[in-house]
Amino acid sequence: MKNTAGKGLFIGLSWAAFIIVLAISLLTIYLVYPRIASIHRVLPIVLWAIFGLGVVVVGGGLLLITIASLTGLDVLYPHNGKSITMRVLFPVVVGFGGFLGWEKIRLMDAFVATNNALLWAQRKRLSGKRILVLLPHCLQFHDCQWRITHDIENCRRCGKCVIADIAELGDRFGTAIRVATGGTLARKVVGDYRPTLILAVACGRDLSSGVIDSHPIPVFGIPNERPHGPCFDTTVDVRRLAELLEMLLPKPSADAESK
Ligand code: SF4
Repeated sequence: MKNTAGKGLFIGLSWAAFIIVLAISLLTIYLVYPRIASIHRVLPIVLWAIFGLGVVVVGGGLLLITIASLTGLDVLYPHNGKSITMRVLFPVVVGFGGFLGWEKIRLMDAFVATNNALLWAQRKRLSGKRILVLLPHCLQFHDCQWRITHDIENCRRCGKCVIADIAELGDRFGTAIRVATGGTLARKVVGDYRPTLILAVACGRDLSSGVIDSHPIPVFGIPNERPHGPCFDTTVDVRRLAELLEMLLPKPSADAESK
């Protein structure tokens, strides 16, 4: 998947936060150790056991996420477990990265890029039976009179915005495409359609909250391009959307093809 820099930022900050927490924990244990040992001789063993378990679980999970996102190898446990880990890492990285001076939107883009990479590593396990393409309303040309939020087929395909190309993708792949004007409507669309997989186009902020809100449904996030500023006549790389659909939709079996 593209956006290696985003993945690197997210993974790097995750490891930095992990090492800092590890160092603080070791320092705390060092300071309280004599007191704990004086209370009961078993307590230090319990303390080290809890510490060791935490290091193995968190460090091991982080190691698997790092390998999967950077190499594309499916070394992860089921994606629900991965989502939980990512839901924990997201606030840690955004908080820690923000503290270090990174822009929040850059950190959210990095989260989406890492989530995409992990889903990509697990792509053989994902079900493409009911893919939903979810679009933001700002992709539509601002002066267009046709109402596409209820039905993208209302688009007259004049070519003034990418909605025309995306509607054609829907025809070509037979995929459900919905346009949402905000998070509430997006959640309703997802609840009504019940997809097995979502391809969402939006800004990093909406994509990162969408990835978390849609759990356990996997969400591939495709950041929109904003040549005129946020939320106004935005656009998206339609070829990238088409490539993803091509790769994620179930392939007809050899038997079905020969009939
Ligand atoms: S392509 Fe469709 S949505 Fe875009 S301006 Fe033309 S009619 Fe409106």
